[in-house]
Amino acid sequence: EAWAHKVEPVVDSALWWRANKVLEANRGESRANKGGRPVASPANWISGILDCPACAGKLYLNAGMTPARHSRTGKPRVPKPRTPKLRCGGHAKRRLSCGEFTGIDAQPVIDVVAGMFANDTTEILAFQRVAGNAHELDELHAGLRKIQARLSATEDDDELDTLVAERKTVKARIEGFAIVADRFDYAPTGQTVAQMWNTGDDTLKRGMVRAVKASWGMALAEHDRQWGIAIGTTGQDAPERAMGIVDLGNGLCFRR
Ligand SMILES: [Zn+2]
Repeated sequence: EAWAHKVEPVVDSALWWRANKVLEANRGESRANKGGRPVASPANWISGILDCPACAGKLYLNAGMTPARHSRTGKPRVPKPRTPKLRCGGHAKRRLSCGEFTGIDAQPVIDVVAGMFANDTTEILAFQRVAGNAHELDELHAGLRKIQARLSATEDDDELDTLVAERKTVKARIEGFAIVADRFDYAPTGQTVAQMWNTGDDTLKRGMVRAVKASWGMALAEHDRQWGIAIGTTGQDAPERAMGIVDLGNGLCFRR
């Protein structure tokens, strides 16, 4: 195969994750979209992600079928599936190709990027409380309010006795409560990058690819007149940023 599968090992091991709630939100979203949107082609997640090497516009996946038309000989041409290509779609709304980058076969690019994610056993972490008990104190106060409400509503002597005893217990716990400050950190979700990728839909995959591109850089790079994918094209001039936790917004984070 002529195309070099070069995933440059600039980033060999990295942690990145998505908060659980964002995952849930996305699942809901993709469910809601079913029936509304046309079905995406299998690897549509790559479309609009990579930059055009010539003009820095966006590369879009050009797939689908060839048009049905008559050839010059008059024989009807049956529409055939196109070989998927990544083509320059230019900038923003204009969606005009720069014409300098003529496009490349999409499949090798899709295979390399998908392979990178599908084989990454790095654990997904979620931002969550790892210490702290202030929420327990809140619950005790809420419980106390409930007891007070029931006390003022009941006429039953036995119930009054029970509630007064309960109130005593809760008040004692509140008085003796030692607050431990909340601490939040990233903790494993039990899911790996590979698992997330392999079970994810197109929207989720696009989010993962976009996140990696935004934090490490992901670009088409020409090497010995062959195209490859270069990872880690940003951040090299800012190592302190590259080493820390980067919140990419939308719940996506990574650590390297
Ligand atoms: Zn271009």
